[in-house]
Amino acid sequence: MWDKFAGFYRLTPAERLLLLQQFCEISDEESALLTENQGLPLDLADHMVENVIGSFPYPFGVALYFRVNERDHIVPMVIEENSVIAAASKAAKIALASGGFTAQAPESISIGQVQLIEVPDEDEARTQILDSKSEILEVANSCDAILVGHGGGAVDLELRSIQGSRGPMLIADLLVDTKDAMGANTVNTMLEAISPNLEALSGGKTCLRILSNLAVRRVASASAIFSKDLIGGEEVVDRFLWAVDFAEVDPFRAATHNKGILNGVIGVVQATGNDSRAIEAGAHAFAAYGHPYKPLTTYSKTPTGDLLGEIQIPLMVGRIGGITSIHPLARVAWKILNVNSVGEFCEVLAAVGLAQNFAALLALSTEGIQKGHMKLHASNIALMAGAQNDEVDVVVERLIAAGKITVDYASEVLEELRSRDC
Ligand code: NAD
Repeated sequence: MWDKFAGFYRLTPAERLLLLQQFCEISDEESALLTENQGLPLDLADHMVENVIGSFPYPFGVALYFRVNERDHIVPMVIEENSVIAAASKAAKIALASGGFTAQAPESISIGQVQLIEVPDEDEARTQILDSKSEILEVANSCDAILVGHGGGAVDLELRSIQGSRGPMLIADLLVDTKDAMGANTVNTMLEAISPNLEALSGGKTCLRILSNLAVRRVASASAIFSKDLIGGEEVVDRFLWAVDFAEVDPFRAATHNKGILNGVIGVVQATGNDSRAIEAGAHAFAAYGHPYKPLTTYSKTPTGDLLGEIQIPLMVGRIGGITSIHPLARVAWKILNVNSVGEFCEVLAAVGLAQNFAALLALSTEGIQKGHMKLHASNIALMAGAQNDEVDVVVERLIAAGKITVDYASEVLEELRSRDC
């Protein structure tokens, strides 16, 4: 199908949408939602958060050429940062030449924490709680018959003793299979329901009862081969691996490396109405879990001298719950993405993170990041200077030609253009 998308970036937004309609069942009404900025009706927004005064549209684009586990996906992204969508598509196209991405996602096991303090006898509390585990799980599961009906629910309870500066704490980790949901509300409700039991059994007091965003049991992985012949040969592969090495040993670099991964992942997370803060928190915490802060991707040279890229990233996302199935534009995004399960969604997200990271590292280890950013950056500067409609392209061209991408210069060019037109 990808040959139909050749030159996609050269089409107008309306032409792109028409082409997309051939592949995804986007109705004319949904097309209107995308183009008329009515994607989020005010009364719906007013029910989502407090003190609503309006809504704030972001660009909605699609990344192309993603083949994950032999299925093709057009990937919706909602993101304000330029070059992200182009870079993801470019990387996916290079991976596609070697068969695309292979990815795996585990079940959606979330971790909820109950903090027990002032426990008089921890050993006794452990025994009492573990002896009553099945009753505690039953109480948790009584909170969400729908989830249990879908085969999910609380599956285990584990205990950990930790020492804080104020004293010891006993932490009860409730493991919940949240199936197609992110599961934050579900887990939090269960934790509040089981805390009286935990207090009675431990003789202590519960303090916090809240989900953990360090989703170590929801770590998805993806890998792909990027052919050396498509990226400039052996020298580029070696420079690329130097770039990876830098991130491996330097947290200042690793933070930016991981930010690049999240550029792509968060774009898709936002498009599908998922919680981007949960993903950011989980990814960074996982990057420093059990070792100093590390990159979430690794790369190695294959026997043929190509690059093998791999990613591991915790993904607490859903395709039901929150606003994922309520926001009208998230519903359009799901149609575009065309995934059959939350596991498949996570596999695509992991592939997007790897693609985004590969594209950033390739640019950084060759021409630098600014060249690719230049046109869109110049376009932002032109808009900041007040350029409108056709003026934008003309101002952008002049800024790039002069190598002076500043608001001052854009204003000067604009003034000159307008005085010429008078
Ligand atoms: P939700 O509260 O909307 O609940 C989802 C519910 O959908 C489930 O409890 C279940 O009853 C039902 N359901 C129907 N079909 C299902 C299926 N196939 N699989 C699973 N459940 C099914 O959503 P949620 O996922 O519990 O919570 C997500 C929201 O919680 C997000 O908006 C997030 O921002 C917010 N949140 C996040 C945090 C955090 O990250 N720390 C904390 C609190 C709240």
